[in-house]
Amino acid sequence: MPKVRDELGLVLRAVQFAAHKHTDQRRKDVRKKPYINHPIALAEVLHTDGGVRDPAVIAAALLHDTIEDTVTTYDELRGLFGAGVADTVAELTDTRFLRTETRKRLQVSKAGKSSAAAKQVKLADKICNLRDILASPPAGWSLKRRQTYLDWAKEVVDQARGVNPRLERMFDRLYRQRPVG
Ligand code: ZN
Repeated sequence: MPKVRDELGLVLRAVQFAAHKHTDQRRKDVRKKPYINHPIALAEVLHTDGGVRDPAVIAAALLHDTIEDTVTTYDELRGLFGAGVADTVAELTDTRFLRTETRKRLQVSKAGKSSAAAKQVKLADKICNLRDILASPPAGWSLKRRQTYLDWAKEVVDQARGVNPRLERMFDRLYRQRPVG
């Protein structure tokens, strides 16, 4: 495992790696924003809103969807970013072959057993997704679907509490904007 001395370098390499891996992917919102906007938003929320200063957590946030959504392996991340970052990303990776419903239930049960690093990235992930869905929902999402997503995100966040009260409050503020029919 390479020793991390150059902390800013670690973060820059992570953003570069993620940008490369997600280069052809788009978000599901109506404007189809570049996918990389999402991991960058997580990193910024962790740093600015969550007060997170651990570069390994910021790097894991930038890389959090690489194993799940791109051709990236755990060993690749470990070699480039160290076992700490790779372990956190692995914790945040859903099992691809499972049905959506099963994956969603698993995220809830896994969140409670996650490391503090993974819990904080998870919180930031749900904050960013809620913000996106409230501001510009994915094309074709009904009110019911948005409500169901928000309620599920809250179930995940409820399992990840206790590591970053600032992020928890931020999530709760967003959740209070849950659309009603
Ligand atoms: Zn995400």
